[in-house]
Amino acid sequence: MPQCDYDLFVIGAGSGGVRASRMAAQFGARVAVAEEYRPGGTCVIRGCIPKKLMAYASHFADDFEDAAAYGWTVDAPRFSWPTLIANKDKEIARLSGIYARIMENAGAELFRSRAVLEDAHTIRLTDEDRTVTAANILVATGGRPHMPDDVPGIEHAVSSNEVFELKQQPRRVVIVGAGYIAVEFAGIFNGLGSDVTILYRGAEILRGFDLDVRATLHEQMAARGISIRCDSDVKAINRTESGLVLTLKHFEEVEADLVLYATGRTPNVEGLGLEKAGVRLNEWGAVKVDSYSRTSVPHIFAVGDVTDRLQLTPIALREGAAVAETLFNGRPTAVDHENVPTAVFSNPPIGTVGLTEEDAIARHGAVDIYKTSFKPLKHTLTGRDERVLMKLVVHPETDRVLGCHMVGQDAPELVQLAGVAIRLRATKADFDSTVAVHPTSAEELVTLREKAQPATAKAAE
Ligand code: NDP
Repeated sequence: MPQCDYDLFVIGAGSGGVRASRMAAQFGARVAVAEEYRPGGTCVIRGCIPKKLMAYASHFADDFEDAAAYGWTVDAPRFSWPTLIANKDKEIARLSGIYARIMENAGAELFRSRAVLEDAHTIRLTDEDRTVTAANILVATGGRPHMPDDVPGIEHAVSSNEVFELKQQPRRVVIVGAGYIAVEFAGIFNGLGSDVTILYRGAEILRGFDLDVRATLHEQMAARGISIRCDSDVKAINRTESGLVLTLKHFEEVEADLVLYATGRTPNVEGLGLEKAGVRLNEWGAVKVDSYSRTSVPHIFAVGDVTDRLQLTPIALREGAAVAETLFNGRPTAVDHENVPTAVFSNPPIGTVGLTEEDAIARHGAVDIYKTSFKPLKHTLTGRDERVLMKLVVHPETDRVLGCHMVGQDAPELVQLAGVAIRLRATKADFDSTVAVHPTSAEELVTLREKAQPATAKAAE
């Protein structure tokens, strides 16, 4: 084909798109990126970063309360929602600017426009009403909240997009769903003083996580006053004079000032022209890719949440980097999606890596379980009824640690290094021979001596 305008055109300046375009430009490729909203994507604009800032805000409630046991007198603290939101917005604007500069400084051209494919090499910049051509294209358009369309009154609910922009703190919050976003926002609103109810259609929160983690977080959130109602389907939402009323099955009603639907995310593929270019989707509507993130069209790639892999920022970053390596650095690179450590910033938070007990049994037939639940040293003085869970899932024959699951304030920080050990195929004996760091919560991970009854066995009793 004739010379194209660009070697790589990236649609979407979120985590995956920015990483790919920066690296590709640094490798010498002629790169352009189109972003219709704000550079940074979900993670920076309405995801990980603002969420964690809000989680920090919510933790101060405990800190003020706990301080008294350590001799501090704290006059009645007051919280200002508008101040938090304004400061958060300032930081997000700063980060978004950094993302734009990262690309431009690397030599990538940034178009602030929506981009759609006209054919497999032609991209229309709709805001500029012109087309450009590219030898390779990367679709990195991310995802958006999925809101069920079969609930009358769903328009009264907000998603995780709008929840970051609320002008006022809601007094009564109902959250529908019990995945990552639901439990994280439950912790945030609860810490900031709102009444929080989780309505979940299943039997236990956080499907897919280890059973002990699910039960522990449920118990700890309930102890903090969050009402968790499992087996609850929302039939309708109505606005009344006293607020929003959710009607559940069996005609029960729950009142709220804010209804947050945290019911999963959908890939952003609509109107992108993917079909015109010949890019195939899978049965869930996500772009179908191979392990190199190549779509059904060999020179079109897709990374991040628009594909159906792990919806996590560091994964999108890896996938974006791998595309740049493959195309422009002579190093075809596939991303390994096994043993990815992850954290849920609930309160208390979760850190998890590797196989859950259930998955390990399904894969290996049997497992040895080592676990402990204890009150952290800090709370021996405060009396706070908070417990830490640490659990190792171990192969009974090879002694290899297959999974590490933790609930507790330091879990997200700890799981990063537990992830290294698990990737290095550490055995339980390796954990045991590592000297403890004292006094920490982490030391429990290397001092777990007694086998415990598997949670799956207990659940089956
Ligand atoms: P999740 O997939 O984690 O959870 C979705 C929840 O909504 C589940 O409890 C699910 O129930 C429920 N649900 C789905 N559809 C419906 C429906 N129609 N009616 C009622 N309930 C429904 O999605 P989230 O929205 O919480 O988060 C999206 C993704 O973003 C996560 O999977 C994660 O990968 C990523 N993320 C990561 C974070 C982190 O790394 N800390 C933070 C936030 C998000 P069921 O279990 O029955 O399917």
